[in-house]
Amino acid sequence: MHIEIQLTREPIPDHWPPPAGARMGAWAEFRGVVRGEENGASIAALEYEAYEPMAEREIRRSLLDLAATWPCLAAQVIHRLGVVAVGATAIYVGVAATHRAEAFALLAGFLNRLKQDVPIWKRRALPEVEPPSPRKIQPALPPEAGSAVTAILQRLRQLCPPLETERVPLHAARGRVLRETVDAPEDQPACDRSAVDGYAVRLDDASGTFQIVDEIRAGDWKPRELHPGQAVRIATGGALPCANLQVVMREAAEVRGPVLRVRQRDAERHIRFRGEAAGKGQPLLQAGTVLSAGALGLLASVGGVRPRVTRLPRALHLATGNEIVAPDQVPAPGQIRDSNSTLVREFLGQWNMAPGQRRLAEDEARLAAELQQLDPALDLLLISGGASVGEHDFTRRLLAGAGFEIHIHKANARPGKPLIVAQRGRTLALGLPGNPLAHFVCLNLYVRTALAHWSGAAQPPGFQTGRLTTDLHSDGQARETFWPARWRQAAGAATLTPLRWSSSGDLTALAEANALLRIAGGTGQLPSGSVVEFWPCQE
Ligand code: AMP
Ligand code: MG
Repeated sequence: MHIEIQLTREPIPDHWPPPAGARMGAWAEFRGVVRGEENGASIAALEYEAYEPMAEREIRRSLLDLAATWPCLAAQVIHRLGVVAVGATAIYVGVAATHRAEAFALLAGFLNRLKQDVPIWKRRALPEVEPPSPRKIQPALPPEAGSAVTAILQRLRQLCPPLETERVPLHAARGRVLRETVDAPEDQPACDRSAVDGYAVRLDDASGTFQIVDEIRAGDWKPRELHPGQAVRIATGGALPCANLQVVMREAAEVRGPVLRVRQRDAERHIRFRGEAAGKGQPLLQAGTVLSAGALGLLASVGGVRPRVTRLPRALHLATGNEIVAPDQVPAPGQIRDSNSTLVREFLGQWNMAPGQRRLAEDEARLAAELQQLDPALDLLLISGGASVGEHDFTRRLLAGAGFEIHIHKANARPGKPLIVAQRGRTLALGLPGNPLAHFVCLNLYVRTALAHWSGAAQPPGFQTGRLTTDLHSDGQARETFWPARWRQAAGAATLTPLRWSSSGDLTALAEANALLRIAGGTGQLPSGSVVEFWPCQE
């Protein structure tokens, strides 16, 4: 089967020739053109974003899956990314099959899968005209110098390819990412089993009464032929003694001694047939799956007791500042408790990571020495505090001095403007602003993205859309704002309640926050019901 996939920022030509030389009977095409309306509003363009390697992989996988049902000879998929104007083609799909009906079924099936499974999404709609906003507090300001969050996330994806793998026992595998496809080692179930407690008789035997000749309990293995007029008592899960049987439920049977009278035979055979759940060799779990309790149960059922998973990243967290004391201490005037170390430890703990942690005073020479001595096998170095450009903010200087390449030194976002992303060898360093709310935002956006891409998870986190449950009063700040919010799923749709926060040092929203609203720079107020983008913090 010939497959061509392109994710492109270039316009898709009006005519795209089917692949030369591919064998085909029918060629069916679909062209998705951007319409002039989105959610009831006139728009000028849509912006598409994708996790590119993963999107390609999912497209390929969907085509291969569908081809198992509707034999496909060739397929071409082109998806445009970035801003696509109204009237232009955003997606082109062409498929070849032997017959027209197969080609159409394949195309329809693929378009459904594309929507559901492929990480390509509409990032935003660009309005045709600026919507009137009399309540805006301030007009949009030009963006400040600094990297847009989208660009930072993109850079992190590039810097964090999937880590090496290891085999771990099932009890250590929850939440880890599977890196191999696990196929059924044998038919599931491996033999025909009774689905009920009852009596097995021949399917072709219409007798009303039977002689009970044996009993099969779960765990027994008693192959035998049944003759007309014979029945075997069998328990739920018991292996049927031969083929072409039916199990009569106990409720439909009357038994006197060794004689069974069947009151009623129904159309149901009450058998879990060999291979009905999955045939031998059929994939049960795909690489990239995050192993849940259910997935681990499935692995256990097929003896997959040491799944191959991504190794855990090695992490070190340094909390800097002369003012911070341990949370169990009473701060002297001017001091504060170190909340970031707890936040970082528990945040990373969600992915089974146990970072090394140290609390250090702002002693540049000491920190420089620490950085020189870092274990080169370290994957993630987090430095809290000292990320901005104030006199005592030295993270950038220290990292550069220790030979780290600085990729990002400021984010065009709030909270969390002082941000450093740097790399030396295999170590990714993030300098995070000390303010706790900024910490929360940076952990969720940047550290989460790095972890997800290192993990090789099939579905890394990304922005989603939902509706506001209340008015949101922003202040027209020029930078993009990440606003703590409470996210709920109601009737299949996401609703978001903005939480109150007074500054990037304000932790009071953090007990409730499970999402960050993404509020575009220059936004004043958003009325209740507005569609907003959000980043889930917990799923
Ligand atoms: P910095 O990024 O070092 O300029 O710190 C910014 C603000 O965050 C200051 O008000 C610090 O006191 C505060 N801060 C720094 N580190 C921590 C920490 N570990 N826990 C709580 N607050 C912190
Ligand atoms: Mg500091």
